[in-house]
Amino acid sequence: MNNVVIIGSGCAGLTAAIYTGRANLKPMVIDGHEPGGQLAITTMVENFPGFPDGILGPNLIDNMRKQAQRFGAEFKSGAITDVDLSKRPFKITAGNETHETRALIVASGATARLLGLESERKLIGYGVSTCATCDGYFCRGKDIAVVGGGDSAMEEANFLSRFASKVYLVHRRNEFRASKIMIDRTRANEKIQFLTPVVVEEISDVSKGGVENMTLRNAETNQASTLPVSGIFIAIGHVPNTKVFRGKLDMDENGYLITRYGSQTKIPGVFAAGDVQDHHYRQAVTAAGSGCMAAIDAEKFLEMRSAV
Ligand code: NAP
Repeated sequence: MNNVVIIGSGCAGLTAAIYTGRANLKPMVIDGHEPGGQLAITTMVENFPGFPDGILGPNLIDNMRKQAQRFGAEFKSGAITDVDLSKRPFKITAGNETHETRALIVASGATARLLGLESERKLIGYGVSTCATCDGYFCRGKDIAVVGGGDSAMEEANFLSRFASKVYLVHRRNEFRASKIMIDRTRANEKIQFLTPVVVEEISDVSKGGVENMTLRNAETNQASTLPVSGIFIAIGHVPNTKVFRGKLDMDENGYLITRYGSQTKIPGVFAAGDVQDHHYRQAVTAAGSGCMAAIDAEKFLEMRSAV
C-alpha cells in the first residue's frame, strides 16, 4: 500500500515527489510514456529561476529526479493502462502491475502534437521547438517559421516577431481555426508573412544538427519549394495525456483535467498538477509550482484522515 502514487515524471510530478518525499510519504512515481516530460526533449532552459546561465532541460530534470530520490521517492517505469478511482485505496495499473494508493497525483502532462517527420524529431531542441515562450529568445535577428493555423500559431507568430527578423506563418489550408481577432492582428504585423495552403514535407539539415530550411509543398498546385529558416515552431496543438481518466475525472472539451481549490479533482484524494490541467501557462516553473500545490494538498488530505 502506497501513501501517494504520482503519475508522470516531468517537472510537476518530480516537484510533487520532492515535496511528498520530504513529508515522509515515500511517494511512488510512475514514469509514463515520456520520462522527464517535455523538458527531457528541450535543450537550453533560460527561464527557470535559479540558473543565471541557463541549464539544459535533461540536466534540470535529472537534478529534480535525484532530489526526489534523495527524499525517498521510488520510481517505476511503464505507462498507466487503467485506474480504479471508484473507492479508496485507488488502484493504478501499469501493464501487469497494480499499485494501491491512499492518494493519487496525476501529473501525466500534455504532449505537443508534431508533424510526424523524422527530421522534425531529430531536430527538436536544435532549431525545432514546440514552445515559443521557451525558445523565442534564441531567434533574435533570424528568419523563422511557425507551423499551424489555430490561435496558438497566431499568438506564437506575434510573440516571436519581437525577436525574429521575419516570421513565416505556414498553414496547410487557406482557412484558419484561429479567432478573427487573432488572424487580423497577425495579418497586420509587418514582420509576419502567411504561406498557405502549404504542407511541410521536410526539415533540413539533420546532418548538420540544425535547421537551415524547410521543404514545402503547395496543397493546391503540388509545387514544391524551399524556405530558408533557422528556427521552426510547431504550434499545431497539444494533447493532454488523460485517456485512462475518461469518464472518471472531470475534463474540459479538449480533455484537460479540471481542478478546483488548488489541485483537487472531483474525487477526494485525487489531485492533478502541471500541463495535464493547464493549457494556458505550460511553463516548467508553473508546472513545478502546481506539483508543489498537489503535494501539499495530498499531504493535508492524508493527515486529515490520519492515514499516514
Ligand atoms: P487548434 O485550435 O486545434 O489548431 C491546431 C492547428 O494546427 C489547426 O490549424 C490545424 O490545421 C493544425 N494542424 C493540426 N494537425 C496538423 C498537422 N499534422 N499538420 C499541419 N497542421 C496541423 O490548436 P491551438 O491553436 O493550440 O488551440 C487550442 C485551443 O486553445 C483553442 O481552443 C484555442 O482557441 C485556444 N487558444 C487560445 C488562445 C487565445 O485566445 N489567446 C491562444 C492559444 C490557444 P487544420 O485547421 O487544417 O486542422
